[in-house]
Amino acid sequence: MRESEESVAKKVKSMPTDPARVRRNDPGEPTKCPVWQLHQVYSNDACKEWVQQGCRTAGIGCIECKQPVIDGILREQVPMRERAQMYLDDPTLVKNIIADGCEKAREYARETMRDVREAMGLEYH
Ligand code: SF4
Repeated sequence: MRESEESVAKKVKSMPTDPARVRRNDPGEPTKCPVWQLHQVYSNDACKEWVQQGCRTAGIGCIECKQPVIDGILREQVPMRERAQMYLDDPTLVKNIIADGCEKAREYARETMRDVREAMGLEYH
């Protein structure tokens, strides 16, 4: 979710493409390329049109084609990075959440044990 920009870019750039595009001037077919699947998720209609046209006519290269996908993933990460930053800046927030969770769990355990004892007719005073 908060994978570094470098790592996202590296992964997308190393993705396989339409095997027919061996050289930059070989035309390709987006539907035979896994990068196209990501364009379906991250790109608007104008960009998808640019990909289809550019790929089929060898008007764009695969590296060029992958850049909007990289940008789209990074854009999607922005709110997650922002939310996480608050906890990175102040780790005591995380410790408090964990402590809170532990206290709640203890409470549930106490209640459950009370129910169990009651059901068994055991009472401790
Ligand atoms: S131009 Fe884009 S869609 Fe076409 S083969 Fe390359 S990466 Fe895939």
